[in-house]
Amino acid sequence: MFVTNPLSARVSDAFAGRWGGVVAGAVALSALVGTSVATFSEPESPVPTTTIAADATEAINSGQSPYRFTAYTPAEAQGPQGETPVSAPIPWEEHREAVGLALPALPFIAPPPPRPQTVRPVTGRLTSYFGARWGTAHNGIDFGDPIGAPIFAVTDGTVIEAGPATGFGLWVRVQQDDGTIGVFGHVNDILVQVGQHVNAGDTIATVGNRGNSTGPHLHYEVHVPDGSLYGAPIDPHPWLAARGVDAGIAQD
Ligand SMILES: [Zn+2]
Repeated sequence: MFVTNPLSARVSDAFAGRWGGVVAGAVALSALVGTSVATFSEPESPVPTTTIAADATEAINSGQSPYRFTAYTPAEAQGPQGETPVSAPIPWEEHREAVGLALPALPFIAPPPPRPQTVRPVTGRLTSYFGARWGTAHNGIDFGDPIGAPIFAVTDGTVIEAGPATGFGLWVRVQQDDGTIGVFGHVNDILVQVGQHVNAGDTIATVGNRGNSTGPHLHYEVHVPDGSLYGAPIDPHPWLAARGVDAGIAQD
């Protein structure tokens, strides 16, 4: 065992003689213990910054935080008692600049599209225009759609009436964002309450066949307040078109 230790071999040569073997043995033991002590007390060498940079880059690329990588200067690494110092990690931004890391590329997150200001009241096809029809005034436009199909708030607004109405069976009236009043007639189910604020596109009712109706459809009116009870009806078709919504061409 001692023969393979170069130090013990040299000591052996120098102290050859009566005490040589004893001294050599003691020094060799000391050297062995010393080696062990040095192994446990010696501070860790600072990690080369190139290694830190590579590790941090790898961490960023794999979605981990780079903060777990801490760089020590040699002075810091050589603590007062020769122990590994407990020092605060270098702030990431400082560290990043120190090692010349490029800023990590942030994923592009598209902002949400702007909420529509005006939407079509139903997805169904236009079936009747505004105006004289069958010898009477038709104060709105009709859209054919199956019973239960969703009816959407056309603009942001406030529900001002929701319930029974002569001729319409059930209706919903909404004070729309430009001050006009939207009327949704013949609805099957009312899904909002008076006073409720609605946003364009919110489902407020479902298509029905109630009241004076010959088939499932939505009757939609737009009224301009004029001091009368319900206001004056205007043609919803150009009103919608002016707001970017194409009601379509009647099929019948
Ligand atoms: Zn109608």
